[in-house]
Amino acid sequence: PSSLSFIGGLSSSSSSSMAEKCFKYVIIGGGVSAVAPYERPALSKGYMLPEGTLFLSLQYQLQLVGPNYWCCFSQFLVFTILQEQQDFQAFMSVLEVEEKNYYPSGMQRKARITLILSTEIVKADLASKTLTSAAGETFKYEVLIIATGSTVLRLEDFGIEGADAKNIFYLREIHDADKLVESIKNKKNGNALVVGGGYIGLELSAALKINDYNVSMVYPEPWCMPRLFTADMAAFYEGYYMKKGINIIKGTVAAGFVKEVKLKNGKMEAADIVVVGVGAKPLINLFKGQVEEEKGGIKTDAFFKTSVANVYAIGDVATFPMKMYGDMRRVEHVDHSRKSAEQAVKAIFASEQGKGIEDYHYLPYFYSRSFDLSWQFFGDNVGETVVFGNHDPQSEKPKFGTYWVKDGKVMGAFLESGTPEENQAIRKVAREQPAAPSLESLASEGLKFASKI
Ligand code: FAD
Ligand code: NAD
Repeated sequence: PSSLSFIGGLSSSSSSSMAEKCFKYVIIGGGVSAVAPYERPALSKGYMLPEGTLFLSLQYQLQLVGPNYWCCFSQFLVFTILQEQQDFQAFMSVLEVEEKNYYPSGMQRKARITLILSTEIVKADLASKTLTSAAGETFKYEVLIIATGSTVLRLEDFGIEGADAKNIFYLREIHDADKLVESIKNKKNGNALVVGGGYIGLELSAALKINDYNVSMVYPEPWCMPRLFTADMAAFYEGYYMKKGINIIKGTVAAGFVKEVKLKNGKMEAADIVVVGVGAKPLINLFKGQVEEEKGGIKTDAFFKTSVANVYAIGDVATFPMKMYGDMRRVEHVDHSRKSAEQAVKAIFASEQGKGIEDYHYLPYFYSRSFDLSWQFFGDNVGETVVFGNHDPQSEKPKFGTYWVKDGKVMGAFLESGTPEENQAIRKVAREQPAAPSLESLASEGLKFASKI
């Protein structure tokens, strides 16, 4: 397509001087929604396991994941990679063909893509369509896609004493994961404290336990993962974690780190490793005052177009219309990252051809894995809840779910240890929002209710 020829392409063919490069499309960010084959979810799961680092070491050797980088691309490649990413292993084997190069031999040239690693954009002037890197290079674009994602909230942000200690770890990028893996290897059978009872907290305490650490978790809420779990659901996971030997301290926060961890309620936990997962915040400072914001993110329409012409925002940074529920939301999960990227690229491509596309019609999908557990959730966690199935953490084969019911309709569904078919069935429930029978019938029917939809 002729649109490809507008791309600056390889650096040698970029227009203008060395100091200024011009491209038709620029993506800032090289994470999940920027469609680099970066499997960030693996960092808190397989990568942390004793045998896990091998899986991603190839990615590391290829230097796919500098701490900060951005890339320029064509629509052609975006679609290609989106398809390829369905099978990450296959994609990695393609990449193996040419080491030290992000894209397989020839592909980069054909698609005219420039990937610029280890380059932080420190200034974005949307009026003049100019980006400036920390090294002072400038980049001009016609269309900009903001995919800067999130960064971790740090304990220093809460003014916690001693929070800069060397044994305190956060997890966002692969180099964070590598530092943690090295520490785990250096101290066998150590003590670990995990601060936070959300995704990172639950996934990392399991990983540390599998690495033979004595693990304690501390979080302020009355139960873990309060953003999604009901008390019943959390009771299962907490019971399961305790069965695995994890010590859970609830209802308090880390107030300081001396040699040991000082908790607000006074208890001390000796820790060789402290892993902190107290939430994330979207990286949007570069665009402050230039673009409309909402709910902590960059406001977009159903095509991920921001309030500024030719500027799009995707992934964690975008606050977009959630058509299914009639409100604006920001979502910090990979499924939306990939789908928002696809939607933005399709919208850009269509508008260049004078065509339109359908609104983004996203069904929230979150998942997590730890130990031999694996759950999926679809829809909206609002209204009354009912739990079904075997949620006894002591049982050999627990399997249970939850439905959320509002205004007589089933709005959300969760399933632990479902088969692919069962997960598809609960997805359908959340998508179609069928009329709910009584909570008692839903509880007794359980998965049978989903399989009828
Ligand atoms: P990111 O993937 O964070 O990418 C942003 C990129 O932009 C980064 O490469 C960053 O370096 C770069 N960048 C930022 N600012 C600049 C700048 N100024 N200049 C240049 N580059 C810049 N979600 C799930 O659904 N399931 C999971 O199992 C799951 N597991 C996760 C495990 C971990 C350890 C983490 C941290 C997150 C996990 N998530 C998971 C969340 C998911 O990874 C994010 O929602 C997703 O990565 C967001 O994609 P993104 O492209 O918006 O941002
Ligand atoms: P989170 O929001 O899931 O959980 C943060 C937890 O920390 C909450 O329980 C919160 O109350 C607690 N907390 C806050 N302040 C605290 C304090 N001072 N002391 C102790 N606990 C405190 O965030 P996260 O687990 O840090 O995850 C970071 C990001 O990574 C999020 O965007 C998340 O969606 C993403 N992530 C997703 C997955 C997944 O989808 N499976 C896995 C890992 C990470």
